[in-house]
Amino acid sequence: MDSSIHLRGKFKESKRILAILQEFLRLSLLQVVVIGGGAAGFFGAIVCAETHPQAQVTLLEASHQPLSKVRISGGGRCNVTHACFDPVALVQHYPRGGRALRGAFSRFQPRDTVAWFAQRGVVLKTEADGRMFPVTDDSQTIVDCLIQAAHRAGVKVWTASPVDTVTRLESGFEVYLKSGTPLQADRLLLATGSNPRGYQVAKALGHSILAPVPSLFTFTITEPELRALAGVAVETVQARLLLPNQKPLEQNRPIANYPLGLSGPAILKLSAWGARALHDCHYQATLQLNWLPDLSAEQLHQQLLSVKQTQPKRQLATHSPFDLSRRLWQYVLAKIGIVPEQRWADASKNSLRRLVQELHQGQYAIQGKGAFKEEFVTCGGVNLKEVDFKTMESRLCPRLYFAGEIWILMG
Ligand SMILES: Cc1cc2nc3c(=O)[nH]c(=O)nc-3n(C[C@H](O)[C@H](O)[C@H](O)COP(=O)(O)OP(=O)(O)OC[C@H]3O[C@@H](n4cnc5c(N)ncnc54)[C@H](O)[C@@H]3O)c2cc1C
Repeated sequence: MDSSIHLRGKFKESKRILAILQEFLRLSLLQVVVIGGGAAGFFGAIVCAETHPQAQVTLLEASHQPLSKVRISGGGRCNVTHACFDPVALVQHYPRGGRALRGAFSRFQPRDTVAWFAQRGVVLKTEADGRMFPVTDDSQTIVDCLIQAAHRAGVKVWTASPVDTVTRLESGFEVYLKSGTPLQADRLLLATGSNPRGYQVAKALGHSILAPVPSLFTFTITEPELRALAGVAVETVQARLLLPNQKPLEQNRPIANYPLGLSGPAILKLSAWGARALHDCHYQATLQLNWLPDLSAEQLHQQLLSVKQTQPKRQLATHSPFDLSRRLWQYVLAKIGIVPEQRWADASKNSLRRLVQELHQGQYAIQGKGAFKEEFVTCGGVNLKEVDFKTMESRLCPRLYFAGEIWILMG
């Protein structure tokens, strides 16, 4: 026989055996499919691939570029985590799921996040308010780290691969891409953020979805005089959000005026804690502000009486006994109808009482919500009661896992 024909036959044969072996290997590997190439999907895929070498992890991302939100996060610097290393204290920062999260944070908390990135060459720094950013002040550092870690761990990243539907099989799932391509999965991680398609997949697999509503926003206040205070910031106010049929929500934090109303940490926190209730009352509620929370009403009153006695000839508008900006002080006086020229000697008992009331418990009508530097998260999604927090596995659909903003506890 011609030896070249013999060799060609052998070559064809070994190629066929190789293909069979590859298919056998593929089938013997645990197929893990992650849907969603955001921070949660990448982190889940990397950890899974690193800790389970017997798994083939495939990450499916709808867009051409994964991690797009990480890129814009924290104003392009990416606020990776917070320097709060006590799980009990940490859960206080979460508006939803606090108790359930305590266990999760006892297994992996911000200290572990810091160490995880350090092991991969990314150093984080802490800012005065506890927020932690990469020392490069560039979110691209985090994006690069996640992409490289996924590559090193052998995660197959498929971009431009939107998932359309998922059906449940006896021992896993069949994932259908929009292109029609089917993919078998032994385990499925759903990390589609607040994307409606992700909610539809979760619903089709038996989960209930709480309608997503915005979280982290500013309060629109149309009172023209308050709007005129744009740019005025106060270091600590006591802000109480009064909502119909609900216990008031309270925050003692900085506040800032901006042209359309009120912003700052006190407002953003209240918006997160009251996200659903505010949505339900169409963002019409009352905000009560104590501009001087370190002083009791009685102390305020005594200080007003004292200035009345010691500075009788001074005008109220130009002489405030408190550490408040002049614009804010004059706004408060105008709000209760005190004319700017009035002298302290002429301030009646009644006007001093109203002044105390206004400084201590001034009320402002919230008439809508704004955006916070286009920065927002969603409150809503998969019901956390349907998820086992020890494993993040669905309680309703075995082998299905969740990560990230798809859950109700975010925001
Ligand atoms: C402007 C801005 C700034 C922010 N800054 C910060 C910050 O500094 N620090 C912080 O902690 N948080 C920040 N956040 C919030 C943070 O971005 C989100 O909490 C986080 O992105 C949620 O991550 P995730 O992976 O769950 O979802 P996402 O980041 O939304 O990722 C989900 C991914 O799934 C993909 N996907 C959806 N549906 C499908 C489908 N059917 N098939 C395939 N893929 C799909 C999407 O394309 C997307 O890439 C910010 C948010 C915004 C908008």
